[in-house]
Amino acid sequence: MEAIFDAWRVRSPFYNETHEEISHLVRRFIQKEVLPNLDHWEATCDTPRELNRKAGEAGITGLGFPEQYGGTSEGIDIFHNLVCAEELALAGAGGIHSVLMTHFVALPPVLAMGSEEMKQRIAPAVLRGEKIMALGITEPSGGSDVARLKTTAVRRGGKYIVNGSKMFISNGMRADYYVVAVRTGGEGMKGISLLLIEKGSPGFTQTKLDKMGWHCSDTAALYFDDVEVPVENLIGPENGGFIKILENFNAERLVAAQSCCGQARVCLTEAAEWAKQRYTFGKRLTEHQVIRVKLADMQRHIDTTQAFVDLCAWRFREGKINAADFALLKVQATRTFERVAREAAQVLGGASYIRGTKTERLYREVRVYAIGGGSEEILLDLAGRQLGYC
Ligand SMILES: Cc1cc2nc3c(=O)[nH]c(=O)nc-3n(C[C@H](O)[C@H](O)[C@H](O)COP(=O)(O)OP(=O)(O)OC[C@H]3O[C@@H](n4cnc5c(N)ncnc54)[C@H](O)[C@@H]3O)c2cc1C
Repeated sequence: MEAIFDAWRVRSPFYNETHEEISHLVRRFIQKEVLPNLDHWEATCDTPRELNRKAGEAGITGLGFPEQYGGTSEGIDIFHNLVCAEELALAGAGGIHSVLMTHFVALPPVLAMGSEEMKQRIAPAVLRGEKIMALGITEPSGGSDVARLKTTAVRRGGKYIVNGSKMFISNGMRADYYVVAVRTGGEGMKGISLLLIEKGSPGFTQTKLDKMGWHCSDTAALYFDDVEVPVENLIGPENGGFIKILENFNAERLVAAQSCCGQARVCLTEAAEWAKQRYTFGKRLTEHQVIRVKLADMQRHIDTTQAFVDLCAWRFREGKINAADFALLKVQATRTFERVAREAAQVLGGASYIRGTKTERLYREVRVYAIGGGSEEILLDLAGRQLGYC
């Protein structure tokens, strides 16, 4: 396993010894804290909060966040975050990333637009892994058409009264702090604000959802029934907060693309190891040309997608951001992961259909990457429009 991960990074011009340090740090964490318990968490659909605290202690949850709130930003660039995503993917269960890193999408709006009091109250505890965050945008009526979201927040004196519901929310059960998109104004994006809503607020309830994969991470429906939220919990300007969520999508898609590459590598590695040992027709699978070609083709897909990831990460680091790149990248990475998982399952044969192989789990999990954080159809359409194909 380790050889493949190390080889591509050594060849890349974007990685140096500081990235390798993060790589080893996260890998040690996964090997010590995650792998011995992962099957149990997947079976019980429950991961202890203690894991987040340990990840905080190891410096994983604070990676790339400002030092003044307890993060590590000195000398850190987006490639360190990609290394972290890649190493988390080594666990062979995408839910681990969701368990530990959902604040990567939920916290930035608070840091960019929240009051200083809010930042001080929330960020250090989240970056230490003591508190957990969720981001609530999707609603039962749909996630693609965000501009039409229906959850309302009506201002009454010093409070907003929130009514509505959210669907498919990562960390929806375990979170302490929820960054929730609500309608405070008229129709469309310009009527949407962000509110920080805390677990335990009267009228705020959650229901756990059973799902196809990512079993160790919780996903929930959220219900708001006349929930009173102090106006101080408004994040950014009223009717103007949503833009920060949109800006954040590029980083989210970049990291998701790296996770797809990492998980595709896990599938390829498992398939290659299997093929070297499995005998059919009197010889090892790798001695059949068609299997060798299959493995090489999987490698080809991963390497070309990784090159696109690195290019987009470089553009991100240099501030040369075009949303179309990140939209196309996520589709490319998802399809690579999907194809490689399929081919790995084919090489493993019946074993891939039985619980116990990483490929079995990842083959189920690949679906979420094609839907969450912008579905393929929506992202390709976004790219098409941005590129002027209309
Ligand atoms: C495990 C998991 C975790 C998630 N975590 C979060 C989270 O933490 N926070 C959060 O807010 N959301 C979360 N989501 C929700 C996710 O972002 C949405 O599922 C996604 O945005 C799609 O929304 P939808 O499921 O409502 O599908 P819909 O919007 O109903 O779309 C259904 C299908 O129609 C297609 N479609 C829709 N409109 C068009 C169009 N105009 N043209 C062509 N095709 C179209 C879509 O691509 C999709 O294939 C999560 C989802 C999952 C499965």
